[in-house]
Order: sequence, then structure tokens, then C-alpha cells
Amino acid sequence: MAKQLDYHTIREIFARFHAAEPEPKGELEHVNAFTLVVAVALSAQATDAGVNKATRGLFAVADTPEKMLALGEEGVIEHIKTIGLYRNKAKNVVKLSRILVEEHGGTVPCSRAALQALPGVGRKTANVVLNMWWRYPAQAVDTHIFRVGNRTGIAPGRDVVAVERAIEDNVPVDYMLHAHHWLILHGRYTCIARKPKCAACLIRDLCTFEDKTE
Ligand code: SF4
Repeated sequence: MAKQLDYHTIREIFARFHAAEPEPKGELEHVNAFTLVVAVALSAQATDAGVNKATRGLFAVADTPEKMLALGEEGVIEHIKTIGLYRNKAKNVVKLSRILVEEHGGTVPCSRAALQALPGVGRKTANVVLNMWWRYPAQAVDTHIFRVGNRTGIAPGRDVVAVERAIEDNVPVDYMLHAHHWLILHGRYTCIARKPKCAACLIRDLCTFEDKTE
């Protein structure tokens, strides 16, 4: 496991991320908190582009929990069957819509525990929703962030919760809100899994990864 980078190095890394992209954005399309929850839940083991393609039609007819319930499981399936695990995901989307209507008056709750109590919503999904909708500096650790955190030394950890905690503990708070998106985009487009683009990487001189590519 990489050694934890010191404060000043991490500060410099995020200063560079910030200079390159001051307002990094998530790539999942949504029109309100409810559609964001659904989009993030659908994105497990699927690409954002694939989810967006499916949800454009879905959200055009069902952008509230009430409308999603009225659409029903078969109706949801019709829109999302291009996405992996669509049957199970459709079941969860209808179930979570029912809970939102019956227990939350049709609104989306904004605590991690209440979000995680929804079917198909795990810790990562809850953190994405808290970060993107409520602009709370929650750190959702996916496969990209887990890899970048460990390779660079920004947030080494043996599992996703350890990396989440390392980000919270080590990233300066003025960079915390956007840390999730900077790290995810860095992992998706530069520090990619098989052959990271180290020659073109803007933090190459600060990163601790020993097997950098040329
Ligand atoms: S130098 Fe290479 S391993 Fe390090 S962050 Fe950049 S792309 Fe990833």
C-alpha cells in the first residue's frame, strides 16, 4: 500500500486539479433529487453514458416517486432494459419510490442512514446523492477513486471505507466538496486501470505510484 502523502503535497495536487477544472461535475443526468437517486442506483455496474441514454425516456414520464409508482415495474423495465441487472434495479426503483411516498411525503431524505434504508441504495450511492444534490462534502468511493487514492498516496486504504476515511482526514476542507469529482474524473480519464497515462498526468511529479508508464 502506498504511503500517505503529506498535507502540502495533497494541497498542491488539489490546487492543480482546481486550476485545470474549477467546477468539476458529475456526468449522470437528473432533474431533481429523486431522479438523481434513481440515476445513481441504476449506475451500479453500468456506465454513466448508458444510464443517461435509458433515463432520458424514463424521467420524461416519471420524474417523481408518485409517477414512478404509477409506471410500475414493467413500465420501468421497458425504459431501462439496456442496463445491466435491469430487472432487479426496476424492482428496487419501484420499491424505493413507494417508501418515499409512504414514509417521506414524496421527498428524498438527506441523511446517509435514511438514504441507505432505501432499496438498492448503498453507502456509495448515498454519498453521491449527499454530495451532488445537497453539496455536503461526502466522499463516495468507487473503483476509480479506490485506485487513485491508493496509487497516488492521496488516500491509501485496504477497503472503500478506509479510503473514504483517508480522504476525509487528509484532503484540505476547502477542496473537500469537489474532491469526489476530481478524483473520479482523474481515474476515469487519466489514471485508468490498466495503463495509466502517467506521461500526460498533471500530478506525475507528486504521485507515489512506483510503476508509472512512460
Ligand atoms: S502519475 Fe500515473 S499513476 Fe500517478 S496519478 Fe498520474 S496517471 Fe495515476
